Amino acid sequence: MKDLYLIKIGEIALKKGNKKIFERQLKDNIKKNLKPYGSLVTIRSGRFYLEVEDVPEEVVTKVLSTTFGIVAFYKTHSCNKELEAIGKLAIELAKLNVASGYGNTFKIETRRIDKSLPLDSYGYSAEIGGIVFEAVEGLKVDVRNPDWIIHVELREKAYVFGYGVKGPGGLPVGTAGRGTLLLSGGIDSPVAGYLMAKRGLRLDAVYFHTPPYTSNEAHDKVKDLAKIIAPWCCGINLLSVPFTDVQVKINQSVEADYTTLHARAAMMKISQMITNERSGGCLITGEALGQVASQTMESIAFTNRSVTLPVFRPLVGMDKEEIILLSRRLGAFETSTQPFDDCCAMFAPEHPETKPDFEKTNEMFNSIDFGDLLDKATKGVERFWFPATQEN
Ligand code: ATP
Ligand code: MG
Repeated sequence: MKDLYLIKIGEIALKKGNKKIFERQLKDNIKKNLKPYGSLVTIRSGRFYLEVEDVPEEVVTKVLSTTFGIVAFYKTHSCNKELEAIGKLAIELAKLNVASGYGNTFKIETRRIDKSLPLDSYGYSAEIGGIVFEAVEGLKVDVRNPDWIIHVELREKAYVFGYGVKGPGGLPVGTAGRGTLLLSGGIDSPVAGYLMAKRGLRLDAVYFHTPPYTSNEAHDKVKDLAKIIAPWCCGINLLSVPFTDVQVKINQSVEADYTTLHARAAMMKISQMITNERSGGCLITGEALGQVASQTMESIAFTNRSVTLPVFRPLVGMDKEEIILLSRRLGAFETSTQPFDDCCAMFAPEHPETKPDFEKTNEMFNSIDFGDLLDKATKGVERFWFPATQEN
């Protein structure tokens, strides 16, 4: 069966000269996210119409609820602009609402875009309201505080729809460029990735793997997290970096209290090399000011200066509780809190430096004889692709 959905956009509508670019990207993203099923998306006067055939409503709802740029969507029916045809669709919808227990008071809300029609919006609402009232027993019109509303839009056709579903807002993924998310197995970094995808960044995720010190389970957990954020990111590549040799070199070369800081700096440098290769323009981490020793102002100042790309830290001003709330909403919390340590925990010193002096720490970092270890780590990347939507 063919189904039609009407999609409303938010922030994109405010764009002026660039609006078309944003619209085109959103259209591409919807099609890409529904790729296993096939779809047709058309844009007419700022409204998006999605047509699908034999796709379960739950699937469409899941995809549109995770496609940034959408503020609301409605399962819609269309017909010719005759009152009789519109009335028929409105009656069906009204019966469905009553059967679903949504209540008995209603109103019709009409938008008449086609100005050549004989009645004004108010006239159409009154006529259609009358038809529904006559046909469905026990209903009452309440224009102030109705239990439910039936919307009628009169454009090149008539569109009739009821309840809308809230979309995720934000900007279409890809409109802000490409960035690299440093994805560890914790709570914070998946949330950071979600927040930056929401602002239109297309993401690659990098994970620094330290076998045999970190387990395959820890690696699998990061893959699971990439899979969880993939729908919001229009699909995501996870790039697994073999980090053991670099980490061991750091541990052999510097005072124990500085190992975490230097490991962070090395991760940033490798991430920057990978980003440059992939034509990306920024790095993203899940750091929050003061959360742990490596996230004090002084520590961030040091790791920040190990790269030239901008580093986005969307969680910088958030409390753990606020981050956990978002993590739960994403459906990532259960996975993030599985007890498989990543390299940070394994190699964490007992008394990590919290206020590193930049000059001294930088000198220490530069004295580490990495040889070609950073290059080798970059070249040894293993790639895993997670699509936005998996076919059942
Ligand atoms: P998270 O909850 O995101 O794992 P965390 O609380 O463990 O973070 P840190 O260990 O200080 O905090 O890591 C800070 C940030 O550095 C992470 O949010 C992530 O962006 C990056 N990071 C840390 N370890 C790794 C890793 N093994 N691979 C990729 N990125 C990492
Ligand atoms: Mg953290």
